[in-house]
Amino acid sequence: MRQKLETIYNSLFSYFGPRNWWQAKTPFEMIVGAILTQAVSWGNVQKAIKNLEEADLLTPEKLFQAEEERIEELIKPTRYFRMKTKKLKAFLNYLFTTHQGDLTQMFNLPLLELREQLLSVYGIGRETVDSILLYVGNFPIFVVDEYTRRIFSRLGLLPEKISYEQMQEFFHTNLPPDTRLFNEFHAQIDALGNQICRPNPDCMHCPLAQLCEKAQGSKI
Ligand code: SF4
Repeated sequence: MRQKLETIYNSLFSYFGPRNWWQAKTPFEMIVGAILTQAVSWGNVQKAIKNLEEADLLTPEKLFQAEEERIEELIKPTRYFRMKTKKLKAFLNYLFTTHQGDLTQMFNLPLLELREQLLSVYGIGRETVDSILLYVGNFPIFVVDEYTRRIFSRLGLLPEKISYEQMQEFFHTNLPPDTRLFNEFHAQIDALGNQICRPNPDCMHCPLAQLCEKAQGSKI
């Protein structure tokens, strides 16, 4: 299975090239992006981050002190801006209550302990937590999502009905714990799910067509 995953990764990488995730000026900006990106395009997240930056609120201290109404106004492009403001505030509350507002201290915790703490923060789900751990904390944890489920079930490597933890376990079991690999592999899966392996897949242009159970089956 490891060899198969490596072939998939190499095929995707040759097709899409390096995805360069995750570009941000500071770790805090990356965390804000991870929280805001739920159910909205990355372009809209960037608009909200630019608004926060121009308002000089893109530090833990300043955002923690800012009025909720002001944050809501600035992050309006991300939809569900009231709920997302509450999530940002919940994260900041956790950061200041548990780690004195210090991200370095937070990321010094062991992986599983930090994951458990972050999962207990209001509104921050597994995918967001794991994105923060991988892309900001550089922990070797594989981020999975609905694109992963769709692609790997169509490839015939995972059942469609599988839990988040089981999907993640599949990658942890079959790949070396390599942060850079996990970072790029998830980004490649995102590119395929977003551009080609959509609900109505464009198998003709898919770099994985030769390896895919669904594509090969439809030829028969
Ligand atoms: S060949 Fe088609 S179904 Fe298979 S992964 Fe590619 S786009 Fe998805």
